[in-house]
Amino acid sequence: MGKIKKIGVMTSGGDSPGMNAAIRSVVRTCAFYKIECAGIYRGYQGMIEGDFIELNARSVKGIINKGGTFLKSARSKEFMTKEGRQKAYDQLKKANIDAFVVIGGDGSFTGALIFNQEFGFPVMGIPGTIDNDIEGTSHTLGYDTTLNTVVDVIDKIRDTASSHNRLFFVEVMGRDVGHIALNVGVGAGAEEILIPEEDLGLERLLESLRRSKQSGKSSSIVIVAEGDKTGKNVFELKDYVNEHLPEYEVRVSVLGHMQRGGSPSCFDRVLASRMGVSAVESLIDGKSNLMVGLISDKIAVTPLEKAIKGQSKINKELIRVSDIMSV
Ligand code: ATP
Repeated sequence: MGKIKKIGVMTSGGDSPGMNAAIRSVVRTCAFYKIECAGIYRGYQGMIEGDFIELNARSVKGIINKGGTFLKSARSKEFMTKEGRQKAYDQLKKANIDAFVVIGGDGSFTGALIFNQEFGFPVMGIPGTIDNDIEGTSHTLGYDTTLNTVVDVIDKIRDTASSHNRLFFVEVMGRDVGHIALNVGVGAGAEEILIPEEDLGLERLLESLRRSKQSGKSSSIVIVAEGDKTGKNVFELKDYVNEHLPEYEVRVSVLGHMQRGGSPSCFDRVLASRMGVSAVESLIDGKSNLMVGLISDKIAVTPLEKAIKGQSKINKELIRVSDIMSV
């Protein structure tokens, strides 16, 4: 592999707060090492179309605090085909780009790995997804911001819930993993938390709500991850509780896309800055096919293959803590 003279950077898949801060870090680390940097718009689709922009240290001013991604994110079906990837390779070569950093989730990493295997093109991944569902890092970019955003919203829901003695089912993101639900549940003092990893049973939910009422609680919040294992969505849960506990006035709140937005937390800005430096330095050192992550508060790299195949596990201690707190 020759010396790296120009690095491309892009965001791909679902957006997350902190992506802009990571782009900024990649661009400025390139500037620091006197390497050229190109922004690739709209993920792999922009790569196929050669939608690039030359970036220097000043091009990324004023974005560390901005949510979303100024390079835009996209999903590209064409990149899933060999012909699409060949077009992308030709565009990168034409623009003299020698390596790229992709900020995204496991799908984006899969694309990068296949691309490397086909063309020997150096790639590095930065995990940018709010779900925290990637192995090889305790925190993905955007996860901390999302926790803070959701806790803040649940606090507000609590205000109205307790004014009317209501029970709220609040749906949060998490199709396959319950990190968000578990953490915001404990952080916002929810009475129950329903996650994809464990089915605690509907009978237990009713029992817990009965106890809450008897102990004199003025409101109840139940956090439900999108993919919770009871198999019932928030509206079905509402009907179920209405049927079995008519004494409760039940409301539902589905938080949706607002969970992805907002200015990144200080934690995510720092994480993004550290990850960008490590991604560029790894490429300069001749490394490839790695994801930069945070392990025991230290920046560490994990093979992309492992990050893709692995599963991030929930902290089961939080289930116990939540049970004790909702006494
Ligand atoms: P999120 O976690 O937010 O879903 P993601 O990176 O996993 O983010 P995906 O939509 O799965 O999001 O993947 C983003 C893009 O990566 C796809 O649109 C596609 O262009 C590329 N990609 C995903 N899987 C493959 C694959 N098997 N081969 C080639 N490219 C792929």
